[in-house]
Amino acid sequence: MYNTNNIFAKILRKEIPCDKIYEDKFSLAFKDINPQAKIHVLVIPKGSYIDMNDFAANATTEEIEGLIRALGKVANILGVSTSGYRYLGNNGKDGGQEVPHLHFHIFGGEKLGKMIHK
Ligand code: 5GP
Repeated sequence: MYNTNNIFAKILRKEIPCDKIYEDKFSLAFKDINPQAKIHVLVIPKGSYIDMNDFAANATTEEIEGLIRALGKVANILGVSTSGYRYLGNNGKDGGQEVPHLHFHIFGGEKLGKMIHK
């Protein structure tokens, strides 16, 4: 069950502020509060989806397209489309997901390290 009190739901409701990078009908992108790279931005759907399992099963085609297109737009806005970047989604317990609202991380602005740290 989706928890409407998670921090990203509060950001979407504008109950807490964010450093917005991009917004459209389906998605919102904002800077991560605790950046792990020179550029670290989160891209989230506006719909209430817990994780990729939920999104893949229940989102509309428009919502899925909207989120994927937003990822590309945000990379362009951040100026990393050519230099390269990493997009990453932590999913569930083993994936280390802390906030139970689907989100992609975009990292860039520098050479990134190994793909997986254990
Ligand atoms: P997860 O581990 O769930 O994939 O990542 C959650 C991310 O959300 C973390 O990188 C964390 O720094 C970020 N985060 C947590 N609370 C806030 C917040 O209130 N504002 C912003 N902008 N980012 C947050």
